[in-house]
Amino acid sequence: MKPQTVAIDGPAGAGKSTVARLLAAQLGFLYVDSGAMYRAVALKVRENAIDPADETAVAMLARTVRIVFVPGDTADAEQGVHVDGSDVTTAIRVPEIASLASVVSAIPGVRSALVTQQQALGTQGGVVMEGRDIGTVVFPHAEVKVFLTASPDERAVRRHKDILSRGVDTTIDAVRADQDERDGRDASRAVSPLTVAPDALEISSDGKTPEQIVGEILRHIETLRSEG
Ligand code: C5P
Repeated sequence: MKPQTVAIDGPAGAGKSTVARLLAAQLGFLYVDSGAMYRAVALKVRENAIDPADETAVAMLARTVRIVFVPGDTADAEQGVHVDGSDVTTAIRVPEIASLASVVSAIPGVRSALVTQQQALGTQGGVVMEGRDIGTVVFPHAEVKVFLTASPDERAVRRHKDILSRGVDTTIDAVRADQDERDGRDASRAVSPLTVAPDALEISSDGKTPEQIVGEILRHIETLRSEG
């Protein structure tokens, strides 16, 4: 079995982005960070001063926004994100936009608009896509599904380091509070809540390097391949 679609889901801070990017480079596949698309819609909602509670207006925006991924210079470099022609790679990474992304991602019309775009990206060839509902909703027939998690403490430490490295000042307590709120919202929303697909390989990233996790996934792919 040669996989065409690898779905990686899990909560914030489990290390999905680094693992998905490295895996895509090893397989020669396109890497798609679906969370960046929800963040892009959130940024536009804020820029256009749209009320996030106005579901019709937010869904309309999600249907019309043009999101383009720009590959990084190297396999481990962050992917660029352009929205309606503007480079928003840095602007979408602030905690405020993460929170707003989690709010707008609960709107059914936003999800259907972005899921359509995500499925279209998957038709271009091999893809590694990461998010919350990739193996359950976007690509329920993906050949390879991984649910990557980690303890809440380890996830908060990882995200705190990541946010500081982007020049945004915050405390570990603030990151943990935001994480708990986002986890709660992502797991309890009515449409596509964060759940583990029955056929997903569950991996805890606690105490592991991204390379070790990529190795585990590649071994899983080998096993699936030998099973035919
Ligand atoms: O993955 P990231 O933390 O960048 O995602 C930001 C937010 O977008 C998440 O908290 C979640 O609410 C939402 N999201 C989603 N479905 C996805 C990816 C992200 O609902 N597939």
